[in-house]
Amino acid sequence: MQSTQSDTLTIALTKGRILRETLPLFAEAGLEPLESIERSRKLIFPTSVDGVSFVVLRGSDVPTYVRHGAADIGVVGKDLLMEFGDEGLYEVLDLEIARCRLMTAGLNFSTRGHAAKIRVATKFVNIARAHYASRGIQPNIIKLYGAMELAPIMNLADEIVDIVDTGNTLKANGMKPLDHIADISSRLIVNRASMRTRNSVISALVERLTTAVDSRRAV
Ligand code: AMP
Repeated sequence: MQSTQSDTLTIALTKGRILRETLPLFAEAGLEPLESIERSRKLIFPTSVDGVSFVVLRGSDVPTYVRHGAADIGVVGKDLLMEFGDEGLYEVLDLEIARCRLMTAGLNFSTRGHAAKIRVATKFVNIARAHYASRGIQPNIIKLYGAMELAPIMNLADEIVDIVDTGNTLKANGMKPLDHIADISSRLIVNRASMRTRNSVISALVERLTTAVDSRRAV
């Protein structure tokens, strides 16, 4: 039977680095796009499972699609769930991919400012505010959308809050990691209403993904 858009189960994937780690894991769980996502300009992709589609989005849009039920399921970094909250969502599984750390960082030669007026550049405004507040500091937060490492070099900020993986980006820009805020990995999120109305198909998918994650850990 041909499936209609309304009974399609839609999974919102985060493009870029997370996507490159998501696709092999989903393939291990038996779910693959019918054409190469990375070589296409399309945004919606049917999959090897009838009635299940992928949509490919910016990470910060994934929780929005899932929260409003435009997508039933999403894959998104824990950093964005921490920053934007998980209202309307269930975080059902740690996919243990795209692991990294959320950290503060400063220039190699700088000493840490204890002054209340420390300037912090980040796209993680809420996380940064909470972290510095836990150290008794109320920073001046400067919202940026990318290339956070440039801000201290250009004297726009004293410190940054950003994602660190190998640390090479910090090192290449004369910066050092300071406080470890959180370990990050990608999570599977589910719309709350979808979880009720489409429980059997979603539970079956979560079970297959859980098996894939567990068997990777066992290697
Ligand atoms: P690195 O030089 O390996 O420490 O990588 C740091 C840069 O890569 C940062 O600017 C991050 O924005 C980006 N990055 C690293 N890992 C991730 C991840 N798991 N998710 C999103 N961005 C990441």
